Amino acid sequence: MGALLGDTVATGPAAPSAARTVAGTTNTTVRPASRTVSPRPDARRVVLAVHGGAGSALKRDRTSPERERAYRDGLAGALRAGQHKLRTGGSSVDAVEAAVRVLEDDPLFNAGRGAVFNEDAAHELDASVMRGSDQAAGAVAGVRHVRNPVSAARLVMEKTRHVLLAGEGADDFAARNGLPTVTQDYYWTEARWQELLKAKGRSKRARSASGGEEEPGARGTVGAVAVDGRKDLAAATSTGGLVNKMVGRVGDSPVVGAGTYAKNGTVAASATGAGEVFIRGAATGTISHLIEFGGRDLASAAYEVVVERLPELGGTGGVIALNARGDFDAPHSSEGMLHGYLTADGKIVTKVFYDESLPNR
Ligand code: ASP
Repeated sequence: MGALLGDTVATGPAAPSAARTVAGTTNTTVRPASRTVSPRPDARRVVLAVHGGAGSALKRDRTSPERERAYRDGLAGALRAGQHKLRTGGSSVDAVEAAVRVLEDDPLFNAGRGAVFNEDAAHELDASVMRGSDQAAGAVAGVRHVRNPVSAARLVMEKTRHVLLAGEGADDFAARNGLPTVTQDYYWTEARWQELLKAKGRSKRARSASGGEEEPGARGTVGAVAVDGRKDLAAATSTGGLVNKMVGRVGDSPVVGAGTYAKNGTVAASATGAGEVFIRGAATGTISHLIEFGGRDLASAAYEVVVERLPELGGTGGVIALNARGDFDAPHSSEGMLHGYLTADGKIVTKVFYDESLPNR
C-alpha cells in the first residue's frame, strides 16, 4: 500500500495528432480535423479514475512545483481512498463515493469545501451517484449545508424511492440521516472569493459589450468512475457549479444521463464542463447509448459526444469513461482536464498539465 505513493507517475506529453488540435480550443465551435480519426482508450486495465474538472489544467510555465504537487496529491489521495475500498472488498459505489469525498474535502477543487460562489456570494452544491448493476441512482441539487454532497446523493439512492432531492429538503434529509452538516462559511476560500469578484467584473463588462452574454465561470468539478471485483460499474460527480451562477441554478452534475451515468455492459462516466450543454446534449447517457445501440467502443463513443457533438451545442468540457474491461478514456474539448487513474496492478497516474491531458491518439 505504502509503496503506491512511489508508484505515482506523471505522464509526459503524448505525440501530436490531427485530432489533438481540438484540445486547446475553448469557447468556439470545435470540429475534429478528420472524421477518420479512430480514438483508442487512453489506458487499459483501469479500475478507478477521477477528474478534478475541465478547463482547469495547469500551465507548466505558470505553475510552482508546490502547486503541481498539491493537485497531484489531491488526485492521488482520492484514488488511494477508492483503492482502499476496492482492496477491502468494497463495491464500485463505495470506491467512487470514497474518492469523491476526498476531493470534496480538498479546497483546491470546486466541490464540497472548495465550492465556488453563486451570484449572491453563497454556495449551492450538486452531486450524484449511479450504480451500473441496476441503474439505481441518487442525486442532490442546490444543497447548502451538507459537507459531502456525494454521500447525500448515495443516501437518496439507497434510502428513498426518489432519484433527485433539491434544496432545503435535500439538506434536511442528509442531516436526518446523520451526515455531517456545515454552515456556509465552511465553503469560504480566498481563491473562490477572488474568482467571484473577477467574474462579477467580467460579467458587467461582458453585459455592456455583448448585450447580456456572460463568459463561463471557473471550473473544477470532481468525479469518479470505478469497476469492482464483481465487474460492477459505478460513477459519481460533485460540484459547486459555475462561479457567479444564478441562485437556484442546477447544472449537469446531479442530472443522471447528463453529468453522470453508469450501466453494466456499457460505461461508467462522469462529466465536467458547460453544464447546460451537457444537459441539452444528454452527454453521458448518449455515450452509453452509442455503445449499447450503436455498437461503438467506449473511446469512440465518448470522443464523438464530447469532442464532436457538444461543442456544436456551444459548450466545452470533458468526461472520464470506464468499462468493465478496464478500458479508460478521458476525452475533452476544453483546455485540458485534471484527472488520474489507478490500474489493476496498483499504478497511479495523474495528469495535471495541459499537455499531459491531451488525448492519446
Ligand atoms: N458541469 C459543472 C456545472 O455546470 C461545472 C464544471 O464541470 O465545471 O455545474
